[in-house]
Amino acid sequence: MYQSPRGTQDILPEDAAVWRYVEQRAAEQARRFGYGEIRTPTFEDVGLFLRGVGSGTDIVDKEIYRFQDKGGSELALRPEATASVMRAYLERGLASRPQPVKLYSLINLFRYDRPQAGRYREFRQFNVEAIGEEDPLSDAEVIAILWRFLEELGLRGLDVLLNSIGDKVCRPGFIQALVEYYRPRVDEICADCRRRLETNPLRLLDCKNARCQPIADGAPKTIDHLCADCAAHFDRLRGYLQAIKLPYTITPRLVRGLDYYTRTVFEVVPPIVGGQSTIGGGGRYDGLAEEIGGKPTPGVGFAAGLDRIIMNLREQGCPLPASEVPDAFFACLGDDAKHCAVMLADRLRREGMAAVVGMGDRSLKARFRQAEASGAPWTIILGENELREQAAQVKNGLTGEQARVPFPDLVLHVTGALPSEAPTT
Ligand SMILES: [Zn+2]
Ligand SMILES: [Zn+2]
Repeated sequence: MYQSPRGTQDILPEDAAVWRYVEQRAAEQARRFGYGEIRTPTFEDVGLFLRGVGSGTDIVDKEIYRFQDKGGSELALRPEATASVMRAYLERGLASRPQPVKLYSLINLFRYDRPQAGRYREFRQFNVEAIGEEDPLSDAEVIAILWRFLEELGLRGLDVLLNSIGDKVCRPGFIQALVEYYRPRVDEICADCRRRLETNPLRLLDCKNARCQPIADGAPKTIDHLCADCAAHFDRLRGYLQAIKLPYTITPRLVRGLDYYTRTVFEVVPPIVGGQSTIGGGGRYDGLAEEIGGKPTPGVGFAAGLDRIIMNLREQGCPLPASEVPDAFFACLGDDAKHCAVMLADRLRREGMAAVVGMGDRSLKARFRQAEASGAPWTIILGENELREQAAQVKNGLTGEQARVPFPDLVLHVTGALPSEAPTT
């Protein structure tokens, strides 16, 4: 017996209905802001991720699914979306279209990570990018897409954490102030932080180690070191968010460790229960295009983990679609009746209804059990008598109504009398 690989899941029909609902809401929210869908390959040249995500990150150093194909190409399953979307923007000449190019995707991604609640090795994301524009309105838009998406799903108690980490003009000054603050405290910080102090000081701020918390809390803040352009960008972004009453919390310790990230960073976090992590986050990456060999191109975006969003929807008891049930179930006795049911079911299907014919050779009692298990509101009973009279017994399980309906009237009877909404179970 084979089992699915560790960290993967089989999404069964009742869950797939929930997935489809959440993905449709995501696509709908993107549409309202004028974003079009992009579908990029599941695998890319591994170099794209080494450059575009960055070696020195866990994603690339520990978690990437990397392989050589039979032609000798070094490839990787995508561990994130942004590098692929930027690659497509550069490769497909999207810079010549009106800017920004606004794109979203709903995709599966792969990371060799330790599986835990809401975290898988194959996982799914809602990804949004606005490429080619520095305007802080594009930052505000991507944050608003994520916020409205989660809000309309019914999630409550969420918080948007927001920060600006400056750009290549002002960040060196901030890093210097940060290092000067940490140097005298080097004996008080964890081993990881001592290493970060030498290699990537910005990451000192998001250390999760308890002993480092008070030190990081007292550290200099990026927003106190912004140059005039970055400060103005951040002010205008906040103005747009306030205009649509989108709540946010300035979070000085929110950073991204790679050089190509600039200015805006944000995360959406669920209510504090058991230290559960971010359900979505993103920021501005004005240095990314150059990192992967393109011309300087500003961009901003986010990724939201759909597995974790669905987990939160269930935990908060948000409304979710019921599993789909057929409209009608044909309970027939004998081969001739089944033959007739096949034709009648075909008529219903051509009218757009979902009709199921009971299979196998069963007693009428077993047929009724099949009908009930199907969840169909209509049960259509066919036996010898019904064939002789060319009329079916039709039962509505919701109203309890039962009628004898001539075959030619069946479609009308069932479609005309159906409740407008599918029943919830
Ligand atoms: Zn630390
Ligand atoms: Zn700046």
